[in-house]
Amino acid sequence: MINIIFLGPPGSGKGTQAADLAKFLSIPTISTGEALRREVEAQSEIGIMAKDYMNSGKLVPDDVVVNIIKNRISNSDCNNGFIVDGFPRNLSQAIVFDKMMGTLDRSVNAAINFTADDETLVKRISGRFSCKNCGAVYNSYFKPTEKTGVCDNCKSDQFQSRSDDNEVTVRERLKVYQNSAEDLIGYYEKKNLIYSVDALKSVPFIFEELKKIVQELQK
Ligand SMILES: [Zn+2]
Repeated sequence: MINIIFLGPPGSGKGTQAADLAKFLSIPTISTGEALRREVEAQSEIGIMAKDYMNSGKLVPDDVVVNIIKNRISNSDCNNGFIVDGFPRNLSQAIVFDKMMGTLDRSVNAAINFTADDETLVKRISGRFSCKNCGAVYNSYFKPTEKTGVCDNCKSDQFQSRSDDNEVTVRERLKVYQNSAEDLIGYYEKKNLIYSVDALKSVPFIFEELKKIVQELQK
């Protein structure tokens, strides 16, 4: 069994890596959003409770979120382990999460920390745009269209980008992440569970690194 947490700022590409590693290990990835939606759809007691919080515009409390993750982890598809992507987000959530894991006789085996400098992350996210017609994804800094304003793929001149991907918003999101990340990483460091990977390396390179970490853990 291998229980892994993925930590990293927005734009670090950890979601892609989590999905690839999960496939490689035949274990599921768990996100709070997906686990929450399952409970709400099933109209379970905790799902109804969570929905009440959301409907009144409040944050779902940590213990409710952790119990929802607990239900998800208790599914048989998690018998060999799981990867949690995007949770815990802060120290207090990490502590509640660990307590919950203890009640299941499980523990976190590794916290993979994706590192990258802010300026590159800002460019990665704020530079993103896609073709409205065919969906081809570009980046004005790293992967521009060959001819300015024309899609390489379908020759359309119509593009779109997400409004919350503008530079000001991205910097704000990074600040929010960093405010809680330090404590969180320190917490797992003390437990000797932190494995850092350079998020600016190529996708295949990072994946090889992750496989090495996992093989080390499985020894
Ligand atoms: Zn196109």
